[in-house]
Amino acid sequence: AKAAGKGCFRFFEPEMHEAARERQRLESDLRVALEKEQLRVVFQPSVDASSEAVTGFEALVRWDHPEHGPISPVQFIPLAEEIGLINEIGEWVLRTACEEAVKWPSSVNVAVNLSPVQFKAHALPSIVRAVLSDTGLSAKRLELEITEGVFLNNDEHVHEMIGSLKAIGLKLALDDFGTGYSSLSYLQRVPFDKIKIDRSFVQGASDPESRNASLIRAMVGLASDLKMQTTAEGVETQDELTLVRNLGCSLVQGYIFGKPMPAEDALALASEGAII
Ligand code: C2E
Ligand code: CA
Ligand code: CA
Ligand code: CA
Repeated sequence: AKAAGKGCFRFFEPEMHEAARERQRLESDLRVALEKEQLRVVFQPSVDASSEAVTGFEALVRWDHPEHGPISPVQFIPLAEEIGLINEIGEWVLRTACEEAVKWPSSVNVAVNLSPVQFKAHALPSIVRAVLSDTGLSAKRLELEITEGVFLNNDEHVHEMIGSLKAIGLKLALDDFGTGYSSLSYLQRVPFDKIKIDRSFVQGASDPESRNASLIRAMVGLASDLKMQTTAEGVETQDELTLVRNLGCSLVQGYIFGKPMPAEDALALASEGAII
């Protein structure tokens, strides 16, 4: 090493040091991204399993980094949660999604993902109400997707929050159903409108060797007993589509009907109605 102190660390651990610096850079880049409109929202259609009519679109956030290119939300959402930027990003996604959805026929809904961190913010219901009133979107056309993660600590606040959100008149969906660690007991208490069956169950489920079909059948049965709809996520092949349809899933989402697309394309598809 040339010198003692900070320089030494760099000399002996160049990779570690570089990774930490890279992360710091990404953090500050993400703050800039929000201001400079490097974030955008794409929309993935959800269709009725029997009629194949478009029933709604899920809003999914994208980050086009000026140097690194597209960065997946799987990477930058956790980062935004850690650095306290998720509330702002989440509100921006919600607003952008509702601004688009008002242009669609009124039978077409919009779904927005909520991070468990957003769910802890007391201001959430008033933010949602403000966005709905600013954009003019009817509450019943908005669906918020939450994951089982919010029930991990099973605290009373979660149930209060759910009550406040439902009181607005919107719909609640349980995302990535079956992948979390929580027990099923919260299903008794929470008035979900829909459960979304994770694509890890759907993909390959049409393989006769796979046990996924049994799991999907059980989830659909549970949902229908509790008067909830089911969406099969990540349907890519005709065999998977036939299977989830036969198992009674009400809605289907997946590349077979459309990848997440820019707002203009979603508007065209929403107006057209059905996917042929
Ligand atoms: P998710 O909410 O489960 O969203 C579904 C993901 O599966 C999306 O990935 C979508 O592009 C992908 N997908 C849909 N159909 C298919 C298919 O047929 N095959 C395959 N292989 N994939 C399919 P994406 O957009 O990369 O988002 C990943 C995750 O990032 C989301 O999972 C969600 O947890 C999170 N996310 C995305 N946007 C937001 C957001 O605005 N807010 C929050 N809090 N999280 C978001
Ligand atoms: Ca989702
Ligand atoms: Ca999901
Ligand atoms: Ca997922």
